[in-house]
Amino acid sequence: MTDLLTRRALLGGFGCACCAGLAGVAEARISPHAMKPLITSGYRPTEKDEQGLWQQYERVEHEIAGSNLLVQDKALTSYVGELTERVGGPAAKDLRIYLAHIPEFNAFMAPTGFMVVFTGLLTRMRDEAQLAGVIAHEAGHFLRRHHIRGWRDLRRKSDVLSILAMGAGVGGGAAGVYLGDAVRLAEMGTILSLFSYSRELEAEADAMGLKLISEAAYDPLAMPETWQQLIEEVEASARMRKKRPHRGYSLFATHPAPASRMTDLRASSREVTAASGPQARGRDRFLKAIAAHRSGFLDDQVKLNDPGASLYIIENLAKDGWNGLLRFYEAEVWRLRGEKGDDLRAAQGYAAAVAYPDAPPEAWRNHGYAVQKAGRREEAKAALSRYLALAPKATDAPMIRFSLAQ
Ligand SMILES: [Zn+2]
Repeated sequence: MTDLLTRRALLGGFGCACCAGLAGVAEARISPHAMKPLITSGYRPTEKDEQGLWQQYERVEHEIAGSNLLVQDKALTSYVGELTERVGGPAAKDLRIYLAHIPEFNAFMAPTGFMVVFTGLLTRMRDEAQLAGVIAHEAGHFLRRHHIRGWRDLRRKSDVLSILAMGAGVGGGAAGVYLGDAVRLAEMGTILSLFSYSRELEAEADAMGLKLISEAAYDPLAMPETWQQLIEEVEASARMRKKRPHRGYSLFATHPAPASRMTDLRASSREVTAASGPQARGRDRFLKAIAAHRSGFLDDQVKLNDPGASLYIIENLAKDGWNGLLRFYEAEVWRLRGEKGDDLRAAQGYAAAVAYPDAPPEAWRNHGYAVQKAGRREEAKAALSRYLALAPKATDAPMIRFSLAQ
């Protein structure tokens, strides 16, 4: 059944599970060279508590595999899969990737070796090295057996009540949790959200990830760069919003990324060999792989109605150069916000977009409407005709054709 895995369950579950729980005492930095994988290809648990944990996650994976949130494009999923094989370490061939159509920045690695990647992650990446860094961080959680280590640690420290609260789901494999409906899965999500990694395990995943991407010849600096982007996006979002949107499920809301983590990541990046190989940044390969989807990803993002974050994401991507698509979505952010003066900002954005050869058809349409409103009828006619030529089968094409004929 495809509708069992709800968006809410995924967000509630995985958004908080990974990379949360960062508060706490500062730890000494972990050198990437100190990180050795604790499992190898074909690993299976032999102890009872871990076997129970695996049983739970095998059921979760079954639900996810049938979810209608999954991106069905074979080319894109194999691209992410192949990248995972390059940076997934010794057990890379055991990893399974599920690409979920959710516009938040998040990724999650289950202890059994399946990874859920949200499309919002792909929206924000400037190149392959950045994406490789996030995947390698998640692979680090798997290779260092963080789920079971975290669980055992928690069981040692916790009192009976909190064990009861969590034991029903994770680790209490014998009791079993029936995941046959969305409510149950949402409960599982709540349990997962409690099951956050410690600061130390996060630092391990960072160090392991840095080692993996540098060994695969990616620029290790891509990793601190991604976290920096997250921090700046949160700040940009906060600056512009009046009300705090409900975003507790996304990585940048659950992930305070303290300054010490950034400092550690930068120091560790310098410790591993800077890549100079052909994969160093892999920008062209990345852009080619997401080309068919980038417009849809940006569309999802701007419709979240978080103008500060959306503008930040667009401007960050534009560090590699503006184009028609980015200018169009920049204008869309203003149009959707709709405050005083935003129509003018949007109009300027559409005009800027159509100056690029890759401007999407909708940029011509919206540019046409904007100049029409300004009383420039001939220009409007030309822009709308251009839209019709580029998108003759658009749903609004007959209407525009009719009004042009008048
Ligand atoms: Zn993590």
